[in-house]
Amino acid sequence: MKAIVATKDHKAAVVDKELRPLRPGEALLKMECCGVCHTDLHVKNADFGDVSGVVLGHEGIGEVVEVADGVTSLKIGDRASVAWFFEGCGHCEYCTSGRETLCREVKNAGYTADGGMSEYCIVTADYAVKVPDGLESAPASSITCAGVTTYKAIKESGVRPGEWILISGLGGLGNLALQYARNVFNAKTIAVDINEKQLDFAKELGADMTINPLNEDVAKVIQEKVGGVHAAVVTAVAKSAFDTAVESVRAGGRVVAVGLPSSSMDLNIPRLVLDGIQVVGSLVGTRQDLKEAFQFGAEGKVVPVCHMRPMEDINDIFKEMEEGKIKGRMVIDLTEFSK
Ligand code: NAD
Ligand code: ZN
Ligand code: ZN
Repeated sequence: MKAIVATKDHKAAVVDKELRPLRPGEALLKMECCGVCHTDLHVKNADFGDVSGVVLGHEGIGEVVEVADGVTSLKIGDRASVAWFFEGCGHCEYCTSGRETLCREVKNAGYTADGGMSEYCIVTADYAVKVPDGLESAPASSITCAGVTTYKAIKESGVRPGEWILISGLGGLGNLALQYARNVFNAKTIAVDINEKQLDFAKELGADMTINPLNEDVAKVIQEKVGGVHAAVVTAVAKSAFDTAVESVRAGGRVVAVGLPSSSMDLNIPRLVLDGIQVVGSLVGTRQDLKEAFQFGAEGKVVPVCHMRPMEDINDIFKEMEEGKIKGRMVIDLTEFSK
């Protein structure tokens, strides 16, 4: 089967790969599509270590075509996800307390397990989340990482209806963060990006305010206009965005770190202590979070913007992502094999 793998020289390549037989508890998905997340870019660049040879992709959606012994959660014909949270151990303190993405034995699709950018993908059936009827596969693919991650991050932010939330970075994740914050959590939104086109996109999606850090002092504007935001979700891949978010929250505010620039952020200790500010990291979402995130997609509250592309475009897509040219998500079309 054809698959996109990370290579030693930090590129992606379309290769032929053997599919192994299923083991008990597994299901075989015939893949329909897989979104390209900025994390795939980090992985192929070896930002988290060399994993060359692994099949990339953790925004995958496919149809179940075979199930092995012991599978009760999926049946042939279901559509299911291939997510970054690919499998946990099922019995550790994290797996048993609603924090399964922190499992120390975790497997991540497109990183420590073969991911969704391939003709077929083998999943651990209990960990693949079913896509509800009424949600098409392309938008479901975006929700499988970008959607669930930001839905969860906004839950973590503790923002309440009517409160202000800052969304920093309006790319693949950020535009969905904005939609979940506004349309599901009923928060007032401020969108921040260095790219004017992303800010226009945020306005189309109904952002209450947009600010470009290249033109304005974000924290100053936010403190003056709304007295500081109650919460901030940072998806931007830039240290400065994290520092700005800390300066932009009001006393008691919470900054949720989501983006993964390879750097440290500045935390002024008196600011943290005297103003009771919290900074927390948030990693994708649990299976239950994904189920909920899918449902809001099925209800039309969140509408991912997807552009379908062939497998061969993968390196061009990474380049466009690095240059900040992508609106919404580029999604690899994996149905070309069945045409
Ligand atoms: P993306 O490339 O689609 O979007 C990034 C956006 O940030 C772009 O719109 C860009 O213009 C904007 N940006 C860049 N510098 C900025 C700055 N200084 N201030 C404000 N905006 C700025 O990327 P994505 O797919 O949305 O992923 C974003 C990050 O989130 C990546 O680092 C990715 O690895 C990470 N991520 C984390 C999780 C998690 O579980 N925590 C899950 C998925 C992705
Ligand atoms: Zn991702
Ligand atoms: Zn575990």
